[in-house]
Amino acid sequence: RDYVRKYAEVNYIEGSDDEKWSKRDFPWTKKLEANNKKVFGNHSFRPNQREVINATMSRHDVFVLMPTGGGKSLTYQLPALISPGVTIVISPLVSLIQDQIMHLLQANISAAYLSANMEWTEQQEILRELCSGRCRYKLLYVTPEKVAKSDTLLRQLENLYARELLDRIVIDEAHCVSQWGHDFRPDYQSLGILKQKFPKIPVLALTATATASVKEDVVQALGLVDCIIFRQSFNRPNLRYSVIPKTKKCVEDIDKFIKDNHFDECGIIYCLSRKDCEKIAEKLQEFGHKAVFYHASMDSDKRATVQKMWSKDEINIMCATVAFGMGINKPDVRFVIHHSLPKSIEGYHQECGRAGRDGQHSSCVLYYSYSDYIRVKHMLSHGLTEQNSNANSGRVLETNTENLLRMVSYCENDVDCRRFLQLIHFGEKFDPVSCRKTCDNCFKAQNLVEKDVTEIATHLVELVKSVQQQFSASHILEVYRGSLSQIVKKYQHNTLRLHGAGKSVVKGEALRVLHHLVVEEILIEDVKRSDYYGCVSSILKVNEKKASNLLAGRQTIVLRFPCAIKASKSSRNDITTPAKGMLTSSKQSPLSVDTPAQTQPEVDLNLYAK
Ligand code: ADP
Ligand code: MG
Ligand code: ZN
Repeated sequence: RDYVRKYAEVNYIEGSDDEKWSKRDFPWTKKLEANNKKVFGNHSFRPNQREVINATMSRHDVFVLMPTGGGKSLTYQLPALISPGVTIVISPLVSLIQDQIMHLLQANISAAYLSANMEWTEQQEILRELCSGRCRYKLLYVTPEKVAKSDTLLRQLENLYARELLDRIVIDEAHCVSQWGHDFRPDYQSLGILKQKFPKIPVLALTATATASVKEDVVQALGLVDCIIFRQSFNRPNLRYSVIPKTKKCVEDIDKFIKDNHFDECGIIYCLSRKDCEKIAEKLQEFGHKAVFYHASMDSDKRATVQKMWSKDEINIMCATVAFGMGINKPDVRFVIHHSLPKSIEGYHQECGRAGRDGQHSSCVLYYSYSDYIRVKHMLSHGLTEQNSNANSGRVLETNTENLLRMVSYCENDVDCRRFLQLIHFGEKFDPVSCRKTCDNCFKAQNLVEKDVTEIATHLVELVKSVQQQFSASHILEVYRGSLSQIVKKYQHNTLRLHGAGKSVVKGEALRVLHHLVVEEILIEDVKRSDYYGCVSSILKVNEKKASNLLAGRQTIVLRFPCAIKASKSSRNDITTPAKGMLTSSKQSPLSVDTPAQTQPEVDLNLYAK
């Protein structure tokens, strides 16, 4: 409850509503514009850049939500350049920092960084420069663990503060503060100490991904005061989105997709495991593509080499885990393919965001299979993914699972506009009409049938209970549809009251209802310990709390199906809904509308036609 109460005190001001931030008569305006041209070589400002700079230069705490590639760095690098003292920038990855410093030095801006794995003498030299009479650094980058663990650094900052040379504190990738986010880093949580120690210094927090709860978490943890928020649409009109059922021949499908639409163009294929990266790269090479792999267990030289080759177009396809991406600045990435389920909608949006930075049409294709959900869940709960390896605490795991379920729901939905589904997640209302058929769901715009599936749902939940919550989803479906297989007989499940109750229900439909129950957390898919590594199975359990309304007959469940599915007996109340009015006429939240991948018609690749 403490948590909730603290939130109530958080207040912010919408910066975009206030015209004063776009004015051009601030004392620094001339200098700002001159340096933007002269030092950074930019002809103008991008959306919100001028506004953010004016607000932070006016010494307000500012929170910036700007899509990847939107130009967040400039909003603190320019102020740093035209202010007298030093700007401290907290950034999560040394590779990101090095990249930034390289660019700054190229522009003749003096900058340095401190990280824990630097030589101590080197660190001392930088700290000495910092407290010297005329420190030449305009920007000092530090990793968060430096702030959390180095008293020396804090003392130097106090020294700067006392001499009024601490201009501003910047928290880049600020979503890392939040456990609700997709990339939580514990060291970020201790950054609140900066505001405590230096209450008068303006803080600028920047991120490309923040849901409402992440945003509140960040503002709270950093202790921002009367913070001004700038945000802009996260829609990326030049990206096309689709979810395609994943078959056993997924790599062949990917090969065909690339040859048909992006031959010899540059792209990223995100894979779940290191092994997948290697296997897929190898296969694509066999198919004649210039592909390589990239993951965290390669040594850093090798990683740097392949990244450079890819940046220079010596190879075009990078098969990578999510370790690849932060700070990637290549403008002409033409496709981002997900070979397996991303771990959250935020992560997915950010990964897709690496495509089409130059504004040209680019493709985002996700190959989805429900079984990947089990696989990812298993990896998350065993800390086997490349992110969040230190995130095994109960709450983090819970958040991860919730994020993953939202992603499943996104994939299972073959009705609502993909943009709408992504953006609602960031608290942004998007009118699907503006999609102009650039996502698979809008592109098909099929007629849909609404159907009451309450009875099927109730039966499935009761069945899970009557087999003592010890069996898998596919077993439950077999029993429900009246199978007399050996295993059904072995456990005498053919004698159960509900054995065969779903004889007349189309299999895809029953499966769809079952997935819906998992997404709604009425059923819980528990990952069972595997006999040998790589094989993960699951058993279904009932979440008593969430199932109680359904079992007591107090809840109805309505799902929408494409007309192509033959109606089962129970579908007396069919309502044919035209695709367009869908989002408003729905009885459910759009996030809970889903259709099984199995019944989804193959996506017409014309969606990607240039
Ligand atoms: P973000 O941190 O928001 O992902 P960056 O700050 O890395 O984005 O900027 C992305 C790219 O946009 C960089 O190559 C940068 O040079 C370029 N850029 C930023 N602002 C401008 C501008 N006003 N005009 C032209 N290019 C810009
Ligand atoms: Mg950035
Ligand atoms: Zn759409």
